[in-house]
Amino acid sequence: MEQDVVKVVEQQIEQIEKTLERMRNNTFAVCEICGTHISLDEILVDPLLTKCKAHQNT
Ligand SMILES: [Zn+2]
Repeated sequence: MEQDVVKVVEQQIEQIEKTLERMRNNTFAVCEICGTHISLDEILVDPLLTKCKAHQNT
């Protein structure tokens, strides 16, 4: 149980680090598949989004 929690937290930290890296590279809120800018509404709901609406389920 505790191991699972650690794993989940580790994954979240990893996602946050990737997001920070994307901010440094000016690719924050840009879909990593098609390069489309993710809308502000969506990024405010989930700042860790890396894909536009069209690619979120891929
Ligand atoms: Zn896309």
